[in-house]
Amino acid sequence: MRQKIAALVAALVLCALAWWLPSMRRTLIRAMTTYDAVTSEPPALPGGTGPGLTRTPRTRVVLIDGLATETALQLPNWKVLCFAGTTLEIDVGFPTVSLPVEVALWTGLTQQQTGVVANRAFDTPIKGIPSQVPGSIAIAENHGYIVRALGFAKAEPEAEPGKPMKDANEKAWDTQWLTLALEAVRSSAPLVFVHILRVDVAGHKGGMDAEYNIAARDADGFLDRLVQSDPGARWFLLSDHGHIEGGGHGGEEREVRHVQGCVTGAGIQREKSGLVSIVDVSRAIADSVGATLDPASHARPFSVALATNLGEDQAVPALSIGTGMIAILILVLGLGAVTWGVRRWWLAPWWFLAACGALLAVRGVPTLSTPMIYKPEGRDMWMVWAPTLILAMLATWLGLRKTTLLRVIVGQLAIPLAAMAAVITTAGAWSAAFGADVAPVVPHFSAWTSPIVLMVAHGAGAVGLAVLASVALQAFGRRGPPEPPRTAPAAE
Ligand SMILES: [Zn+2]
Repeated sequence: MRQKIAALVAALVLCALAWWLPSMRRTLIRAMTTYDAVTSEPPALPGGTGPGLTRTPRTRVVLIDGLATETALQLPNWKVLCFAGTTLEIDVGFPTVSLPVEVALWTGLTQQQTGVVANRAFDTPIKGIPSQVPGSIAIAENHGYIVRALGFAKAEPEAEPGKPMKDANEKAWDTQWLTLALEAVRSSAPLVFVHILRVDVAGHKGGMDAEYNIAARDADGFLDRLVQSDPGARWFLLSDHGHIEGGGHGGEEREVRHVQGCVTGAGIQREKSGLVSIVDVSRAIADSVGATLDPASHARPFSVALATNLGEDQAVPALSIGTGMIAILILVLGLGAVTWGVRRWWLAPWWFLAACGALLAVRGVPTLSTPMIYKPEGRDMWMVWAPTLILAMLATWLGLRKTTLLRVIVGQLAIPLAAMAAVITTAGAWSAAFGADVAPVVPHFSAWTSPIVLMVAHGAGAVGLAVLASVALQAFGRRGPPEPPRTAPAAE
């Protein structure tokens, strides 16, 4: 009787876990995409001292949002314009999200220094380069909340009243923005920023497909018209991130994080850089307009940035050693528990290994670029591992006939729970998991929290249901020899 009650309580606890974890996952995703992260210092960039760019009367910056390197290199105008100046290979840092990258571009501070890691509307614009330039103008094709956050004297489109993320009069703006951008470029304004969005929009819609290429061609056409409107100015042609093949960005992948750019026009030599940081580009813009960067900026003068390249992944923030050690300790504890619990090979958590393997094989490595990790229901992910839950149920069902309840539960769930705890630790996500307004955004691990938490929820549910079924059958007096279930209960 006591055993039955214990089994019943265990089953209820497991089912409660299965019920709670998916909502905890949604809390984490919301935190990652809504709040700022805890700030930290990035490592210093290599190089010494040298001259920066000279000041120039008119600086023009065009940023094609979401333009990947391989696509930029196919664009005829981009190629001609950039070939005449200094071509840059730029690491935009992490996360590869538009607003955080553009805040880095206009402040000279990385995403880790500003803590800005998500797209959101700002109540007060940043104090960066544009706020130091009287008469600075920014024009965006759409998603105007980005340019409105950057501190330009004039930033359009305006927001819809009361809705800071939404642009006013979207339809009308769509027909006007390019004309206004051309006017701004032709004006005597010392700094003009034109933010082209259609390439990113196409990337999110269908990945790097034909439509994406058409959008890139359109943007390339605008680029030519803009530059021809004031060929005597100094031009920065930039991108803020690429896209993964199927569409999406945000993660640390090189093809998303490394983009093309160039500086051309007034006073710029024909040259080609190795990898430089996005903050080096800030420094070049600041020098062009006579602005100064925040003293905390690690940005280097142009000549130094060109002479000393970054390592391929130097801009990816490293995991702190202490956090890594704690995560490893948690995993070791999980492994210890499982060696105690598992007395038969088939009681090991094979379902979990199979679930992880299936996810990797079918959907690939989860990163902050893969749209599946943000979906509230996570269907793209769990459809893949649902069949493996039958393994968890079978192992539990048969295990209960061979060994104790505790050993069975530990065998099935200790490693998955330890893996979940380790990933939440490395992502710095414990406070966010319990509702804190802080974004747990770190390379690699943040993305893994999404599938692992859901996987553990499903595993707990499967084991809990199998325990419950076992108790129920015993209650109906069907003791007797062990028998496999006649039909496997449906996976959730
Ligand atoms: Zn985007």
